[in-house]
Amino acid sequence: MLIRAVVIALAVTSGLAAQANPSWTEPFPPHRVAGNIYYVGSKGLASYLITSPEGHILINSNLESSVPQIRASVEKLGFSFTDIKILLISHAHWDHCAGSALVKQLTGAQYMVMDADVPEIEAGGKGNFQYGNSPGSLYKPTKVDRVLYDGESVTLGDTVLTARLTPGHTKGCTTWTMKVTEAGEPYDVVIVGSPNVNAGYKLVNNPLYPRIAKDYATMFRVLKSLPCDIFLGAHGDYYGMEAKFARMKEGGVNPFIDPEGYQSYVSERERAFRAEMKRQSPSK
Ligand SMILES: [Zn+2]
Repeated sequence: MLIRAVVIALAVTSGLAAQANPSWTEPFPPHRVAGNIYYVGSKGLASYLITSPEGHILINSNLESSVPQIRASVEKLGFSFTDIKILLISHAHWDHCAGSALVKQLTGAQYMVMDADVPEIEAGGKGNFQYGNSPGSLYKPTKVDRVLYDGESVTLGDTVLTARLTPGHTKGCTTWTMKVTEAGEPYDVVIVGSPNVNAGYKLVNNPLYPRIAKDYATMFRVLKSLPCDIFLGAHGDYYGMEAKFARMKEGGVNPFIDPEGYQSYVSERERAFRAEMKRQSPSK
């Protein structure tokens, strides 16, 4: 009886973090998004390969079990997985970074992470303000090779990515921006780190993250200031990946060019944040 209770308790704590979302492990056709950006993630977890003649950049290693899937996607597109020279992430949550140790081991890539997310990455997820030590949220501690600060560039060949600190969802949540040329035209790309308030996030009087509400406000200010033509994010559902991919196959204008979609997504997420703030604030 006691053992049964312990097993159930463990399942509940780890289940909260591990949340077996079947879409996270469901394969998805790898595809070119625009310019030298390719989608190599699963149906539910976005991962991007940015190619250059000098080697490639991978954004998001996802779950540890995702790594063979990402590798297969990279190879299906005709690129070599071992040409990945730089590994980046959207933020320090296991669904975007648990595979990083394995990617580093297989490719020797340099791991570059925003300063405020570095302690958690190097502690394998321990110390996260929300998930702490819940077993499903932990991963292999991974050494960061370069600590990034807001506005810094990551350069490989002629590809330049800019790291923008968009905190709140994690303390070092990172939105990546870059420019691509698609059909002869230049476009601004934004890969959103996460604007979401997860279930259970304490926005008011949070002793483990006192400035969380301020950070969310900063994040929305930054996202609204970014020029964006091509809208991408840490999960495909931020930007309607599946529907856009389906339209891509029909030809015509690249459906990933969606400046209005970006603006309305950011506004809608900001409204959701403000509503949650109001809900959590003590009424006067
Ligand atoms: Zn997250």
